[in-house]
Amino acid sequence: MKSKKVLALLLTVLLLVGLVAVPASAASYTINKTPTTTKYYDGDTLKLTGLQLKDDKNKNINWKSSDKKFSVTPGNGDVLNLPDGYTEYDITVSVTYDNVFVGTFDVTVYKDGFVSTPTKTAYQEGEMFDPSGVSFYSKSGSGANIVFSLISYPADAGDANLTFVPSIDTPLTKETTEITVKYGTRTIGTVPVTVTAAMDSSTVKKVYTDSDMFNPIGLSLKIGSETVVYPTNKEHFSFTVPTDKTLTVDENSATQNVIVYYDGVEKGNFDITVTHNFEAIVQLEGGTMHGQFCKGCGQLGSVDQCANHVTEWIPNGDAGFLKQESETGTCSICGGKVTRNIPKTDEQLENEFNSYFNLAETTNETEPKILHFFFLIIVRLVQTLIPAGGNGHVFGTGIFQ
Ligand SMILES: [Zn+2]
Ligand SMILES: [Zn+2]
Repeated sequence: MKSKKVLALLLTVLLLVGLVAVPASAASYTINKTPTTTKYYDGDTLKLTGLQLKDDKNKNINWKSSDKKFSVTPGNGDVLNLPDGYTEYDITVSVTYDNVFVGTFDVTVYKDGFVSTPTKTAYQEGEMFDPSGVSFYSKSGSGANIVFSLISYPADAGDANLTFVPSIDTPLTKETTEITVKYGTRTIGTVPVTVTAAMDSSTVKKVYTDSDMFNPIGLSLKIGSETVVYPTNKEHFSFTVPTDKTLTVDENSATQNVIVYYDGVEKGNFDITVTHNFEAIVQLEGGTMHGQFCKGCGQLGSVDQCANHVTEWIPNGDAGFLKQESETGTCSICGGKVTRNIPKTDEQLENEFNSYFNLAETTNETEPKILHFFFLIIVRLVQTLIPAGGNGHVFGTGIFQ
């Protein structure tokens, strides 16, 4: 920049020398006031408003876009660009009036956006954004009082205008890909970040019964740059579910959430399921029913009739005149023996009636049919009052029904 200024000065001197050489009638001018605005963001347009010259008779000449005697480079409305690699740069503006070189002045162009970006961009889930290293120019004031200040973190950490989205006290999630840096209402830019999972529970056992103890073997945590896999450093781990006693079923939900801590710092969570361990089958009600007991907590589960699980019924042949036939089967689930009644057919009852009273087998039309029917009704009534042989009632009314 200095060399440019020197060059401009040299040119001015040469031109002035030249002016001395030309006839005395030629006027000379000096810059009396530079334009109101001399500080810009990269990409802003130059504003010459406020530029004032003074001629050799001490008369002021204000810049006006309509005054065609002004020739200014760069000109009013021209875009001011920062050269590559610069964050702040002085651009020299040269002024000619009425074909006479007048002089130069500098305008300063500041980088729009980040001057420097945050150092840390790789995070683990649950960590918070650290803006350290970020800096940018902020413009305040107006007109001749415009000031560009370099805002940086942590130097300006207490500046309420300096905010981040998400904020620096929000734990980052795997979904976070960028942080927006704002100053007041102005968005300075976005910082790309990568957030990796602090915990990997993919190989951990998640399905349990209440006979089991929770065992997070294989659980992997990122601790700083290290990876710790449970049970390594076991004493640093803690969980919201105990690892030293059998699990308890939550009757409202099979799913339980486990929060993982390392040295008391939450690292993540995952779900496990805990259900009863209904493995043991037990006979109930003297063998006519069976049920499932939980091996974990001893709770009784579903109960079923053994009669529903008999594949073969064997007649007992124990019926008497006023007794029903019965048959016995073995429960395929618990091995319990069950006996049930087989009501006699009317024909069987009639034959028994005939043999009991020693009546002829061949039915005569004159036989007192009406007496048979009356008798059958009595037998049916008696049968309902006498239980079958063996284990008695089949369809019990026990407490487990
Ligand atoms: Zn249980
Ligand atoms: Zn059974």
